[in-house]
Amino acid sequence: MPRKRTDGSVPTRAEKGKARAVWNRLVARYPEIRTALDYESPWQLLVVTVLSAQTTDENVNKVAPVLFSAYPTPEALAGAPLSHVENLVFSTGFYRQKAAAIVSLAQDLTEKFDGEVPVDLDELVTLKGVGRKTASVVLAEAFHRPAIAVDTHVKRTTNRIGLVSVADPVKIEADLKALYPAELWAGLSMRFIQFGRDVCDARKPRCFDCEMVKLCDFEDKNL
Ligand code: SF4
Repeated sequence: MPRKRTDGSVPTRAEKGKARAVWNRLVARYPEIRTALDYESPWQLLVVTVLSAQTTDENVNKVAPVLFSAYPTPEALAGAPLSHVENLVFSTGFYRQKAAAIVSLAQDLTEKFDGEVPVDLDELVTLKGVGRKTASVVLAEAFHRPAIAVDTHVKRTTNRIGLVSVADPVKIEADLKALYPAELWAGLSMRFIQFGRDVCDARKPRCFDCEMVKLCDFEDKNL
């Protein structure tokens, strides 16, 4: 049974063809892609993804080795003094909220899942501070499972191109899943994110230099 979009419609062959053409161009631009966040385990990716809010990946990559050297496991971080964790994550900004979030996350993971990151979206989102986007990043990146994380770049680029026409990230995720076969899901988000950063900028999209230009429905192209 073909997957339906959130409005109940099923993508046509032409719509799937366009989606595939977009995919082909993304893969030609980014043959290999992974998150720029450094991590050595699903647990570490979960933590660095939380720390990456409102800061650069480079900032997080400087802080993470010191944090994981002091607290190598969820159990260790669960028992960490909050003030020490605040000092360690200070340079990533919002350090009080972030320190509290990762310590709560470590406690929750230890209590609910014995310190093991679950390989399941519904279980991941039961963890404190873990939303659908973070859970999908961990599933796709650390476990190579079919998952689509929708951030601001994915939302903007897929709507402009005309692959989806909804604003709600949960609906965008579901509509993209109806459009693409599951084996491509894990490779979609990071490519759209990088494409959004490099080409399809929020304020000044580089339409004049964009390989999607003939496929793209955006009416205010910058040509
Ligand atoms: S043509 Fe412009 S709006 Fe469309 S995807 Fe390319 S950069 Fe974005």
